[in-house]
Amino acid sequence: MQPFVYNALPARVIFGWGTSSKVADEVKRLGCSRALVLTTPQQAPSGEKVVASLGDLAVGLYTNATMHTPVEVTRDALKKAQELQADVCIAVGGGSTIGLGKALALHSPDSAKLKQIVIPTTYAGSEATPIIGQTEADVNGKPLKTTQKTLKVLPDVILYDIELTLTLPAQMTITSGLNAIAHAVEALWAPEANPITSSLAVQGIEAIGKSLPLIKKDANDRDGRSNALFGAWACGTCLGAVGMSLHHKLCHTLGGSFGMPHAETHTVILPHAVAYNTPFAEEAVDKIGRALGLAEGVSTAQGLFDLAKDNGAPYSLKELGFREEDLERAAEIAAKAPYPNPAPLEKAKLLQLLRNAYNGTRPE
Ligand code: NAD
Repeated sequence: MQPFVYNALPARVIFGWGTSSKVADEVKRLGCSRALVLTTPQQAPSGEKVVASLGDLAVGLYTNATMHTPVEVTRDALKKAQELQADVCIAVGGGSTIGLGKALALHSPDSAKLKQIVIPTTYAGSEATPIIGQTEADVNGKPLKTTQKTLKVLPDVILYDIELTLTLPAQMTITSGLNAIAHAVEALWAPEANPITSSLAVQGIEAIGKSLPLIKKDANDRDGRSNALFGAWACGTCLGAVGMSLHHKLCHTLGGSFGMPHAETHTVILPHAVAYNTPFAEEAVDKIGRALGLAEGVSTAQGLFDLAKDNGAPYSLKELGFREEDLERAAEIAAKAPYPNPAPLEKAKLLQLLRNAYNGTRPE
């Protein structure tokens, strides 16, 4: 056994079917009584149900959560939270909504510190991390996403209600599942990898890898849906516990600076990031391949590519609307700031990786 350091994060996790009905008990348990419920515009009906189940404990519903946490939306929601004297926010949704809840906790004055309950409805994993990404225009007016890690944004309670994931559209289910797998993949080759996160990473990859084809066949498959959400927690916990490398850096660049959609971008980049790192991270890559149960002769990078393509997910940046002329700038940004990664980061090789992802080439 190698020596290791492991920092456990405080977490209260409630997992099961119909668990969102326990939300009022959780608000009271936190000593709160004025809950502001957050959703995206699309998930407003789910937010209304939570408001109804909270009764007098709900003070409002804010339905404008937006991907990549733009600061203008945070300011607007914070104003509403302050007007309503909210003492807890309840994010019902995916990473975008949870990101807004985190931003409110971060920016609320210490004297009025907002508690957070999250009810995740995708597999992105933000609920289990002390990480927040926020987007603001840079000096040239271009969107720039910055990320910080602080316990101030770690949710107090995670209510995983499998029921709420049944409506996650088929394609989003696959891309969000691959987004989760990406956290576990990078946790396995992280410099801070340790026996706890590595074992969670393998469990998470296994659970999601076997659930996606089941859900593709039947969106209501109970085993598939519950395994996928369990996998999301396992993979999200890895993301919260150890540092990420090339894959997340590339996706962060493409999302934050080029407005690319989050889960889809993770899905397209992952096989290529794995191919790039494979010669320098063989043990981790073998573990991933075994967790996915790949057939003889299929590499881990190819297995991840096939998992996306065979289940109807996008597999090229081109089909996501990325502009070929932006490949160079993306490679430049990704190569600029140094960060730990198994393979050395060389701009020309990164450009080739991005070009392969742009064209949707199956890794060799
Ligand atoms: P999302 O939250 O933007 O959701 C995508 C769309 O799916 C939205 O319209 C949403 O309303 C809808 N949706 C979500 N769940 C649904 C359900 N069960 N049924 C029907 N519709 C549903 O997507 P996401 O991929 O979960 O989150 C992406 C955002 O999260 C990005 O901004 C990303 O940076 C952030 N993120 C942050 C972390 C972190 O640790 N800080 C981790 C992962 C993702």
